Amino acid sequence: MTEIEVPESHPRYQSLLTRHRIEAGIERGITSQQGLIAEGRGEAFDYLLGERTIPSADDAARAAAALLLLAERPVLSVNGNVAALVPEATLDLAVAVDADVEVNLFNRTDERMRAIAAHLRAHGADEADVPIRGLEADARIPGLDHERGKVDAHGIGAADVVLVPLEDGDRAEALAAMGKSEVVIDLNPLSRSARSAAVPIVDNVVRAVPNVTAHARELSGAPRADLEAILRAFDADDALSTAEDAIRSGELA
Ligand code: ATP
Ligand code: MG
Repeated sequence: MTEIEVPESHPRYQSLLTRHRIEAGIERGITSQQGLIAEGRGEAFDYLLGERTIPSADDAARAAAALLLLAERPVLSVNGNVAALVPEATLDLAVAVDADVEVNLFNRTDERMRAIAAHLRAHGADEADVPIRGLEADARIPGLDHERGKVDAHGIGAADVVLVPLEDGDRAEALAAMGKSEVVIDLNPLSRSARSAAVPIVDNVVRAVPNVTAHARELSGAPRADLEAILRAFDADDALSTAEDAIRSGELA
């Protein structure tokens, strides 16, 4: 038994563990109440996907790894759900692609910003030498209201590629309009966030983040031309419609 009082052999183990982490995130002040609703919405899609990484999502994870490795200034955006679900896996990915991490909240409060930064430090951010940004909030995303538009000038403000797991649709669109290449992880292939991404990964963050890291480790050291070829071969619209078909056909494994 780990973390929760349910044996790992339980058929709903992963889903129960995920719920437990979100609950614990709310108790610790890192996840918002709205985060709980977002989780429920995601779970419904994941159930219909068979709670697995479909092949098109694995291709997308590989393309995301290529894009992040090609980036000059990649930044991984972390919100309350991501911090609760995959703190270590996010830091592992930051190390694998040499990215900064930026705390970036839809419902921004200083208290929650600080709690998430501390949570990431407790999971080894300093030891891994991963800068945690977001607290300076000295730049703005044009077109968004004041609180929602805050970013760090040296973080997302200066980034060329941003990984935004579970991003709000408005903000994902505004970042794309700023010219950032976005990797979006979202279980809903119809969401505006997924649709504004250069690389949408329709998968659970719990599976997708470590999967992008595994691809990045495998591709590290590959010539730029090879990474560019992987990106060229990736078709975002195709990935979205394949995922939508898998969800609608509901053929569970
Ligand atoms: P839109 O993008 O259409 O504007 P929204 O982003 O405002 O909608 P929310 O319900 O706030 O809608 O967003 C939550 C999104 O995060 C949903 O699309 C949900 O599928 C997705 N999601 C929730 N939990 C996870 C998870 N663990 N992994 C991946 N995606 C998730
Ligand atoms: Mg969305």
